[in-house]
Amino acid sequence: MQHSVISGLIGNLRRAARFLFLLGAAASSCVAANAQTLVLAGGSVYKSPDAAPLADAVVVTSDGVITAIGSRSEVQIPKDAQIIDCTGKTVVAGFWNSHVHFTPAAWRNAASAPIAPLEEHMREMLTKWGFTTVWDLGSDPDNSLPLRRRINAGEVAGPNIRFAGNIFPKGGHPVYLPAEIRLPEAATPEEAAQMARGFMAMGMDGVKLFTGTYMGDKPVVNMDVAIARAAVDVAHAQGKPVFAHPQNRMGVDVVIAAGVDVLAHTVPREAGYTQEELAAFKSQGTALTPTLSLFAKAPLGAALAARLVGSGVDQLKAFSDNGGAVLFGTDVGFTEIYDTSLEYELMHRALSESQVLASLTTNPARYFKAANKGKVEQGFDADLVVLDGDPIADVGNLAKVAYTIRAGHIIYRKP
Ligand SMILES: [Zn+2]
Repeated sequence: MQHSVISGLIGNLRRAARFLFLLGAAASSCVAANAQTLVLAGGSVYKSPDAAPLADAVVVTSDGVITAIGSRSEVQIPKDAQIIDCTGKTVVAGFWNSHVHFTPAAWRNAASAPIAPLEEHMREMLTKWGFTTVWDLGSDPDNSLPLRRRINAGEVAGPNIRFAGNIFPKGGHPVYLPAEIRLPEAATPEEAAQMARGFMAMGMDGVKLFTGTYMGDKPVVNMDVAIARAAVDVAHAQGKPVFAHPQNRMGVDVVIAAGVDVLAHTVPREAGYTQEELAAFKSQGTALTPTLSLFAKAPLGAALAARLVGSGVDQLKAFSDNGGAVLFGTDVGFTEIYDTSLEYELMHRALSESQVLASLTTNPARYFKAANKGKVEQGFDADLVVLDGDPIADVGNLAKVAYTIRAGHIIYRKP
């Protein structure tokens, strides 16, 4: 008896504490306010990019996980659930953008900056476009690591963030980065290994190498294979991926020789990938983020930009037809092209609609070993996007986002 009174008291205290927590959280953010069962009802669901859609479906999420999915007659909607009416809409897995940067001024002092402007910028840049996981391929960790902490604590609505620490070749400070920033330039394999170890110790999730650096009118500065290899060895020993900005053919060949995992751009100033390069991509499992809209909007004049896009599309097609993993990526944060429509349109010149959807969902989940992401299946993370139209009927619908949901929390809703 006494025991049950005590446990009853503890239960009341717990409920009170939880209530207070919810109040506090609700006051500071829209994330934790939805900390309950969330149901998406009546939409058409693509469980994976090549599956037939499930019509008039119900997706139940609880504690950040998809707990049930099926037709309306099969799935019971829990009584206390928050329900999103998805009639006429399409539900797909949360999107990955595998090439972003938290570098714009909006992220400065992210550790102490007020929530509202951070969230507003996050919305404009990422959550409005359906991104629930992103790879930051280079930013100031003094801003971006605290930003991630605040997102993961539920303070700021935003995506999962993974970070790659950057290593540049000696004398290879890119012309497009301010000269006054000190960049980590490795002159020897030992220096590169030490930098890579430092990034891992800081809690970063990967490394990005500039195997080729753009120097404007001056020749591209390439990284020696031995220097790249040293960083790759450190990252791979910890199971972490390595990205590279290749810039030119030699930069691509350093990627291959050093065993880098992901090409962070196509190289549209070069002729297409050679048969030898394609064979190496295949045997090494190299992945590619095409970043085509970056080239389309480059301030180089319409004729050159069109040529670069054509070349990038051809490289994407050759890479994909060769069986390579294509990972959606835009370089947003470096570019100010937040709207993803153009990237989808350009990718679709080389890929089918379902291949474009795979580049946003199943491909990155598989490539980065996120076993519970990338599909709308029972037991998977409740990272979901509700679209106003069917993306397999028209790839442009991938940019028409009604809701973005991360771990069962609404992080964006169309006004
Ligand atoms: Zn970039």
